[in-house]
Amino acid sequence: MDVRPIDANLFAKSLEIEARSVGVSWVCDRHEAAAIRGAFKMAATNARQFPTLDYAPVRHGEWIEDELEYPEEVVFRYKCSECGRTELVKEPYCHCGAKMDGGK
Ligand SMILES: [Zn+2]
Repeated sequence: MDVRPIDANLFAKSLEIEARSVGVSWVCDRHEAAAIRGAFKMAATNARQFPTLDYAPVRHGEWIEDELEYPEEVVFRYKCSECGRTELVKEPYCHCGAKMDGGK
């Protein structure tokens, strides 16, 4: 499963806004509405207590075809658009950490 970092404080705030918007309607009475508001507030509190992950924005790059011409042969290689490192094979990530998807 992919991890998708989000702003937990913003998420908690959205839950609190939802809690305030719950009112008595034809689908719930005041006791049920209070329980739903309480559940949203509890979820907001829990969201704020989740551990913080180390996170760095993903850098995107692409392999740029490059060739070295020697007297007897030509060597094809690929140069990282972010750091200039060269590799003989297109890897999904460069050693500099760039995701080599061309910015997709
Ligand atoms: Zn690189």
